[in-house]
Amino acid sequence: MGSTASAKNGTWRNWGGNVSARPAREVTPASVEELAEAVRRAAEDRLPVKAVGTGHSFTSIAATDGVLIRPQLLTGIRDIDRTAGTVTVEAGTPLKRLNVALAREGLSLTNMGDIMEQTVSGAISTGTHGTGRDSASIAAQIRALELVTADGSVLHCSEKENPDVFAAARIGLGALGIVTAVTFAVEPMFLLTAREEPMPFDRVLAEFDELHAENEHFEFYWFPHTGNTNTKRNNRSAGPERPVPPLKGWFEDEFLSNGVFQVANWVGRALPATIPPIAQISSKALSARTYTDISYKVFTSPRRVRFVEMEYAIPREALAGTLKELKAMVDRSPLRVSFPVEVRTAPADDITLSTASGRDSAYIAVHMFRGTPYQAYFTAAERIFTAHEGRPHWGKIHTRDAEYFSGVYPRFAEFTALRDRLDPERRFRNDYLRRVLGA
Ligand SMILES: Cc1cc2nc3c(=O)[nH]c(=O)nc-3n(C[C@H](O)[C@H](O)[C@H](O)COP(=O)(O)OP(=O)(O)OC[C@H]3O[C@@H](n4cnc5c(N)ncnc54)[C@H](O)[C@@H]3O)c2cc1C
Repeated sequence: MGSTASAKNGTWRNWGGNVSARPAREVTPASVEELAEAVRRAAEDRLPVKAVGTGHSFTSIAATDGVLIRPQLLTGIRDIDRTAGTVTVEAGTPLKRLNVALAREGLSLTNMGDIMEQTVSGAISTGTHGTGRDSASIAAQIRALELVTADGSVLHCSEKENPDVFAAARIGLGALGIVTAVTFAVEPMFLLTAREEPMPFDRVLAEFDELHAENEHFEFYWFPHTGNTNTKRNNRSAGPERPVPPLKGWFEDEFLSNGVFQVANWVGRALPATIPPIAQISSKALSARTYTDISYKVFTSPRRVRFVEMEYAIPREALAGTLKELKAMVDRSPLRVSFPVEVRTAPADDITLSTASGRDSAYIAVHMFRGTPYQAYFTAAERIFTAHEGRPHWGKIHTRDAEYFSGVYPRFAEFTALRDRLDPERRFRNDYLRRVLGA
């Protein structure tokens, strides 16, 4: 599993290496009953409790100095209901295991993020999303949830059962209870044709509305210090499968996108002045390509170069203006940014604290190579995003607090009222939740 948590000296660390914690104790429950018992015991000892996934969040949302609950023994598919078109999965299942297990059954999720290392519960709890014109985040594909709440009881929710809990708990920030099982809507496995193509920055922005409207999944990467982007359009295909040939795939996805990119980042970190010329070269290194493959293989790709990230959702209509401001800021600053800026979209959804709650959204993500100072870049970017009523990804670096969130989420008070009811003693507290939820 991708978690970097270390048992040796009792210190837990996230994937980005920017968050660590020393839990009082660790538990690896093998059943819902054992997990509920761990929560009850923590309450007796007056300790907070936090379930972790694979530590892929860049914020301290998963950090705890209390009882850390590990997901490893709560994995696998619990039930497949072909009539309802749903699959119920244990909450600790890594997305990559879920994808493979579903494919074996001829089934698939509708949309995915960029990677599949995370656990199901970790991914949904922060609102993990990919890009989509009609299909939204992973949490938006949930049909029912099972949770262990602060008193150690098991709570089920769906649109029909405890609908107020269902509205919020699909993206629960780990604040409402410990998710033990997730029921997803699934569909017959499908193929996607990916078209990757370099395009000038100005043209992507000028044609963004058409590119978004004409493609089921459109995204692009802008390379700072250049006017270049790489666009990606994924659309459903009747086949035949035409995957990237293994050697070409290795060269482009491993050697160029990970190996050479890693070296370029090392050089850039040591000699920042080399970053703009390297960006000019690397933004042109990947040529256009088209391939057709099983959906999850097209949605996701390996990310081996470690980085830290900030990502904000803004109203979709504000995208072009916001990106132009971001580019102008980078151009006139002494910043040297070696990582591309990723742009994606999601349709409005109905989840209380989803970054796309009630509004069609565009996502802008800024990254910095691990070990490079990122504060100046992220602070300047965040100033631009918040001026457009941006909502930060719950699992990616930001500096916002409850007061800010109550302004950008019309249903913020609904979430905190539910939390007051389900967890009045704040069994699932940590410093991050205190900041973003206000108590
Ligand atoms: C390389 C990389 C690529 C990424 N790509 C994307 C992307 O494409 N799109 C995107 O939106 N995000 C992306 N992310 C962010 C990532 O998907 C989220 O941060 C996600 O929450 C991480 O899942 P995790 O399993 O590692 O959970 P963790 O980070 O370990 O935990 C996240 C939260 O989930 C809670 N949690 C975990 N298990 C449970 C449970 N059983 N019950 C209740 N709460 C629980 C934790 O307490 C914590 O609050 C990426 C991150 C990295 C490092």
